[in-house]
Amino acid sequence: MVCQQRRASTECGVCMEDFELQYRTRTNLAVAMAALLLLSPFAINNFVQGRNILGVGSAVIVTLLAFNAWCIKVRKTVPWTTTFLLAPMIIVFLNIAFQRQGIVGALWCYPAVLSFYFMLEERQAWIMNLLLLGVAAPAALSALEPAVGLRVVVTILAVSVFSAASIRVINNQQRTLRDLAVTDSLTGLYNRTLLDSTLNRTMEQSFRSGSPSSLLLLDLDHFKSINDSYGHDMGDEVLAEVSALLRSRLRASDQIFRMGGEEFLAILHHTDLLGAERVGQELCDLIATSTIVPQKQVTISGGVAVLSQGESWTEWLKRADECLYSAKRQGRNQVVSSN
Ligand code: GH3
Ligand code: MG
Ligand code: MG
Repeated sequence: MVCQQRRASTECGVCMEDFELQYRTRTNLAVAMAALLLLSPFAINNFVQGRNILGVGSAVIVTLLAFNAWCIKVRKTVPWTTTFLLAPMIIVFLNIAFQRQGIVGALWCYPAVLSFYFMLEERQAWIMNLLLLGVAAPAALSALEPAVGLRVVVTILAVSVFSAASIRVINNQQRTLRDLAVTDSLTGLYNRTLLDSTLNRTMEQSFRSGSPSSLLLLDLDHFKSINDSYGHDMGDEVLAEVSALLRSRLRASDQIFRMGGEEFLAILHHTDLLGAERVGQELCDLIATSTIVPQKQVTISGGVAVLSQGESWTEWLKRADECLYSAKRQGRNQVVSSN
């Protein structure tokens, strides 16, 4: 009995976080560079005009923006100061600008509202914008004429709501695109996009923690004959069903990739050679005893390799591949391992 394709979760890999981070890092860098260029002349002008408090406030913000840009360029990460120092400082600065410059100061609220959505995580941006409004509304209503103050508050709120709606759409689209980019559409497993970064990350963690990691490379036996006898559509359904069976047996933290065709790779974290052999054998038995295709036994062969000190991921994968070849040569429907 062949069931419909089931999509496996794509949320189990640490490397997904890299995608999120890359996106936030890029938007942060763009905001930091643009704000630096636009704000610096105003910061200098404040001092030239003798508005020293505003000058100091804007200089602090410019410095924090420069630090932000530096961290992203050099350390490839968004510093904690963005959320806990830069954003609060912007709110304090806006309050001072309001008190001292009235409507001229109020104008800075609009880019600030937008920048929060590009610099911070969505929820943090919401909180900062509520804080901004909490500071700006009383300041606007006390420092400006009531009719102007009310309009300033409403327009800040409108910009905030429109920005939040747009950023929600952009974030959702970027997550959808990210999932599409890393997922094999037939099986719901990972495709090869994240393979090298995930293997590199696995090796780093394994060497650092001393905990073993194993690769299990699997290939369906005589799959071509299934296509030839039952048609390509049935072949596709077998691939989807086998993927669902693999996913159901492996731990949520293990990552499974469709390497192409009818070949799969499972990364087994915190698993030594014996453990990986056992998992491989269980998977072989699971597939062999399933009734994926009526009146035909579907089988799979596997190669297992536990990570060795000092080897590269290509060498690690090659060892698993050699074991898979041995399993094929020795008659298929079995697992061969290498330590
Ligand atoms: P072995 O036991 O030695 O692995 O033999 P095999 O027949 O499984 O391997 P072979 O490499 O000879 O054939 C693999 C076949 O898989 C050939 C190709 O047409 C088929 N295939 C690759 N990708 C897909 C796919 O996405 N869907 C279907 N239905 N077939 C596919
Ligand atoms: Mg095959
Ligand atoms: Mg193959």
